[in-house]
Amino acid sequence: FFLAFEGGDGSGKTTQASLLAAWLTEQGHEAVLTREPGGTATGRDLREVLLSHRADASPLSPRAEALLFAADRAQHVAEVVTPALGRGAVVLTDRYVDSSLAYQGAGRDLPAGEVERLSTWATQGLLPDLTVVLDVDPDTAAQRRSGRAAEDRVEAESRAFHARVREQFLSLAGRDPRRYLVLDATTDPQTVHARLREHLVPLLPA
Ligand code: C5P
Ligand code: MG
Repeated sequence: FFLAFEGGDGSGKTTQASLLAAWLTEQGHEAVLTREPGGTATGRDLREVLLSHRADASPLSPRAEALLFAADRAQHVAEVVTPALGRGAVVLTDRYVDSSLAYQGAGRDLPAGEVERLSTWATQGLLPDLTVVLDVDPDTAAQRRSGRAAEDRVEAESRAFHARVREQFLSLAGRDPRRYLVLDATTDPQTVHARLREHLVPLLPA
């Protein structure tokens, strides 16, 4: 079973992914908790390149950025995700294809169809069984982001950028409701976690 956590910066993806991994392990599943960018050694190198170009003098071109995220994803799928799914593990990834559609597509204004084709090529078409979109209102998200500007390369981005990213996540979820779960992530982490568990129980393999 392949589950992706998506949502803007400060939506609580990392927290929810760890809570769920701990619970799955308790239930006797092999849970593989991973993330993009940076789920592999190569990916960590790419992550450093991506994050170091933040607001500095030589910003990455949107297409170069999209290709580096796609390279990270291709390596991640080949090295971590596919082998883990092959041995029956539950794979939880903190970000996946939809992050590229939201940030590089809607955020950076690259044609969505092209970003999607690039991702499909990178992943050989592997899609999550379920994508959980953690949704927070713009004020809460901005507040959470401000506490950790060092890691968030888009901290410097405008509110309009973050609004486009959020709208894209919601619109992707609306397109295919059976493969998405949108959760209000403004409430406390334990409440969000409980809702997610409730949704997941009937979907998980025995
Ligand atoms: O989620 P995480 O904090 O690991 O992401 C690192 C940074 O890269 C974040 O600021 C996120 O907004 C950005 N990012 C991006 N495009 C992606 C994935 C992440 O701009 N496809
Ligand atoms: Mg972050």
